[in-house]
Amino acid sequence: MHLKTLTLRGFKSFASATTLNFEPGVTCVVGPNGSGKSNVVDALAWVMGEQGAKSLRGGKMEDVIFAGTSGRPPLGRAEVSLTIDNADGALPIEYSEVTISRTLFRSGGSEYAINGQGCRLLDIQDLLSDSGLGREMHVIVGQGQLDAVLRATPEERRGFIEEAAGVLKHRKRKEKALRK
Ligand code: ATP
Ligand code: MG
Repeated sequence: MHLKTLTLRGFKSFASATTLNFEPGVTCVVGPNGSGKSNVVDALAWVMGEQGAKSLRGGKMEDVIFAGTSGRPPLGRAEVSLTIDNADGALPIEYSEVTISRTLFRSGGSEYAINGQGCRLLDIQDLLSDSGLGREMHVIVGQGQLDAVLRATPEERRGFIEEAAGVLKHRKRKEKALRK
């Protein structure tokens, strides 16, 4: 599976629409401190369903919306779209290319879409979870996270392995069902 393009519009420091095209293989993003490299990674996590403002290095979810600079007023919404090459069918959907989008309005509302069709956050999370992408998957390894794996208790380490093996999703569903 290959992430093809990421488009940010009003997301953090990316006030104007910015599209990044990723070629197959390794992509490096380089730039001075504060230029927005980590914001690109935050956008990836966000569009794949991240719900924790802290994981996105903010205090509240609204902090992902462009807050304005001395020369530019704040924006009312943040939008991120990610296009994934699905030629190998890794995502359980009948399209060879899948675009997932997420929009957050300053008024608080959210919109999600798969290939332009409005959907729920859960639909995106479900679509991605079987492929090993998405929320709570360790596909994005942040600074310090490697340390956390090395220092994990046996139970926590088991959690990582269960996730990698695809067991975690079923365990969560079971726990949810038992709570009802
Ligand atoms: P480093 O090399 O230090 O890790 P970086 O390239 O990863 O830097 P980021 O953390 O991605 O930099 O970007 C930080 C910049 O993004 C800061 O200048 C910050 O003001 C800006 N920023 C973050 N959130 C917003 C927002 N909501 N609106 C406008 N600018 C924002
Ligand atoms: Mg950074």
